[in-house]
Amino acid sequence: MQLVLATSNKGKVREFNQLCDTAVIPYSDLIEPFEIVEDGDTFAANALIKARAIYERLGSDALVIADDSGISVPLLGGEPGIYSARYAGAGAGDKENLHKLIDTIRARGVVRTPAYYTAAIAIVGSFGEYVVHGWMYGDVIGEARGEKGFGYDPMFIPEGYELTLGELEDDVKSEISHRAKALKLAKPILTMLKRRGV
Ligand code: IMP
Repeated sequence: MQLVLATSNKGKVREFNQLCDTAVIPYSDLIEPFEIVEDGDTFAANALIKARAIYERLGSDALVIADDSGISVPLLGGEPGIYSARYAGAGAGDKENLHKLIDTIRARGVVRTPAYYTAAIAIVGSFGEYVVHGWMYGDVIGEARGEKGFGYDPMFIPEGYELTLGELEDDVKSEISHRAKALKLAKPILTMLKRRGV
């Protein structure tokens, strides 16, 4: 079974490789990377869009895994949610997105408010499609603390901790993260498909 990951992001490839017994190959090792328009209105829809697009290009032997993730703040009606990667605009990077969220909650007059990360993982192959989710709950604060992690991590304090994900060691995050939880749910699906000889 050849598992193809719908990303060329090295960090994601490493995370998936740690979990799966079968080696995971980034799709960019097999075909020229191409633009995929993620215009779904949920994390699950966008993960499926990515997995299907690559499955269609690769043909029916492939088993494709894609993920989509982001942070949601209930005070802001769930923003930035599926728009997390482009919250501060189409070409914006992690730093701009982080500071836009800090400024936005501060403009609401709060310095700490509940938030959660979501990860959806889609698995698409000749047998059909599966989607699993993982969540990490906590609070976002009106400042950036620490240099670890990425994205919104310097402003996110996971439930049960006092430090932000920017300050906590990486191995803490890899135990409690939304992606780790979704990956744990994906594992039995991959095992079953392996048994089926996909
Ligand atoms: P994706 O690569 O399309 O899933 O977009 C994920 C976006 O959500 C990233 O650009 C980050 O802004 C945010 N995000 C998702 N997971 C995390 C995380 O674990 N830490 C920090 N930011 C995250």
